[in-house]
Amino acid sequence: MDYEKLAELLFPEISETPEMYEARYPARDLPQGARVTRLGPSPTGFVHLGNLYVAFANERSAHLSGGVFFLRIEDTDSKREAPGAAEAILSALDCYGIRFDEGVTASGERGAYGPYRQSLRRNIYHCFAKRLVAQGRAYPCFLTDAELDALRAEQEAAKLTPGLYGVWAAHRALSLDAVRERVLACEPYVIRLRARDDAASFFTIEDGIRGTLTLPVNAMDVVLLKTDGMPTYHFAHVTDDHLMRTTHVIRGEEWLSSLPIHIALFEALGLAPPVYCHTAVLMKAEGETKRKLSKRKDPESSLAYYRAEGYHPFAVREYLLTILNSDFEEWRAEHREADAEDFAFTTDKMSRSGILFDAAKLNDVSKDVLLGIPAGELAAFLTDWAAQTGRPEAALLKGDMRYLERVLDIGRHDANPRKDLAYGSQILAFISYFYDELFRAEDAWPENVPRADVPRLLGGYLKDYDHGDDRTAWFERIRALAEANGYAAKPKDFKKNPALYKGHVGDVSTVIRIALTGRKNSPDLWEIQQILGEARTRSRIAASMGAAGGEISAE
Ligand code: GLU
Repeated sequence: MDYEKLAELLFPEISETPEMYEARYPARDLPQGARVTRLGPSPTGFVHLGNLYVAFANERSAHLSGGVFFLRIEDTDSKREAPGAAEAILSALDCYGIRFDEGVTASGERGAYGPYRQSLRRNIYHCFAKRLVAQGRAYPCFLTDAELDALRAEQEAAKLTPGLYGVWAAHRALSLDAVRERVLACEPYVIRLRARDDAASFFTIEDGIRGTLTLPVNAMDVVLLKTDGMPTYHFAHVTDDHLMRTTHVIRGEEWLSSLPIHIALFEALGLAPPVYCHTAVLMKAEGETKRKLSKRKDPESSLAYYRAEGYHPFAVREYLLTILNSDFEEWRAEHREADAEDFAFTTDKMSRSGILFDAAKLNDVSKDVLLGIPAGELAAFLTDWAAQTGRPEAALLKGDMRYLERVLDIGRHDANPRKDLAYGSQILAFISYFYDELFRAEDAWPENVPRADVPRLLGGYLKDYDHGDDRTAWFERIRALAEANGYAAKPKDFKKNPALYKGHVGDVSTVIRIALTGRKNSPDLWEIQQILGEARTRSRIAASMGAAGGEISAE
C-alpha cells in the first residue's frame, strides 16, 4: 500500500505540514519550571463544581510557577453545544477569581497559540491525521454501526475482547483502489489509529498527583477523526496540547482510563507527552457510604447553585482550597489575613482518592470568610446578588444601605464574634425580621409562660421602655419587670427555689424577643432595638401585645 497516496486521496485540501505548525507555534519562552496549563471545557451550558476544582488546580499551578494558563473551548460536538455557553463559563470562572492569560476571552481570542476553539482548528487536526495516514499509522474505516455491532457480538460469543484491533480491524487491509471507490461513492468513514499489535502489554507513567501508574498499552484502533471530519477528544487533546505547548494536563479522574490512548497517540506522532495530573472525583456522603457528586441528582454539583443561593465567591474559593490541598487549613490558621493566593498550592499534595464534598463544612468556611468582609462590602454583595438573581427583597434591601450594613454587622465585633451569616438566601432569612414587610411570627410564645402573662409583660415593658437606656440600664428594667410579675430576676434564684417563681428573667426576655423578632433565638436584643429604632421597636411590641391579647380573649 502506498500510504502517501492514501493520505493525498483522503486529505487533498491539506497542503500544510506538521513542521509548518511546529514553526508557527514554537516552544514557549518561559523560565525553567514554569508550567503551562489549560482548562478545556465543553460548552454544554453546565459548569460542574468539579470543573471549578480542576480550574483552580490548573490556575494555581501555572501562576505560582510563573507560567501561562489558557482557556480552550472544546466545541467539537455541536450537538451538545448550548448558545452562549462559552461566555457563561468565562463569567462563572471570573467571579471566582480564575483569570486566564490567553485563549478565548469575552471579547475574542488572545494569545499566539490559537485558535483556541477546537471547531476552528479543523485544518490542524487534518494535517496531523494526514501525516499519520502517510506513515501507515492511521487509516480510513468505513464500517457501519450495524457492522460494528455484529463484530462485537461475534467477539463476545467467542469470549474475546470486543473492539477493533488486529485481525478484527478489517479495513486496515483495504486497498488504495477500494478506498478510492468508497470515497468517490461518498461512503461515510472515520480515521482510525492503527494500534501496534506487537506492543508490550503494560507501561508505566508518572502521574503528577498519583505517582507511578502501570497501565495497559492501548491495543485499539481508536477513532481520531469522526465521519464529520471533527476530531475525537483524544486526537484533539493530543494535537492541541502539543501545539499549545501545555506542560501539565490537570484533569478529572474520568480521563485516566483513556490515558493509554493518549500515550499511544503521542507515540504515533513522535511527540513528547505533557505531565498528566489526574484529580480525584468529588464525592458526597450518603448515609454510611460515599458516591460521586452527580450532575443529575445533586443541585450542589452545579456552579449555578452557588450563584442562586448567594454564596460569596471568596467562600467557595476558600472551601475548594481546603479540599485541594489538605494543609491549607493549617496554613490558614496561621495566616488569617493573608490572601489565599499566597498559599503554596502544589499538585503533588492533591488527594488521590475520592474527595468528600461537605456542604456543612462549606457553610462553616463561608461563615469565617464572611466575618472577614466589612459589613459595607457585604451589604453591597447581598444587594447585588438579590437584584441579579431577581429576589423580591432586592429593592427593600437597597432602600437603606446604612440600615442593612448595621443589621449585617450585629455581634461581629465582639470578643467572640457571632458567625451567623453563611450565604445570601440564608442571610435573607436570618435578617428578615428587621424589615416590617418580611416580619413573621415564626416561634410560639414560650410554653412555661402563662398566656395571660404575655400581654401583661409586653404592656409593662412598653410602658417603661426608654430607648436611651444603655445595655445595663435596659437589662435592669427587664429584671424589675420580671420580679414585678412573679419571675426570678436571676436564673440562679429560680434554680434554687423554683416553687417560688413562675420562671425567671430569661423567660421574660424570650417573650420580648419573640415580640420583636418573631423568634426565640436572635442576636443581642438591645442591639437589635437600637437598629430597629424607637418607633419600630414600640410598634412591634404593641402589635404583638395586641395579637397576644386577642388570643386570650378568643380562648
Ligand atoms: N472537554 C473536556 C471536558 O470538558 C476537557 C478535559 C480535559 O481537561 O482534557 O471534560
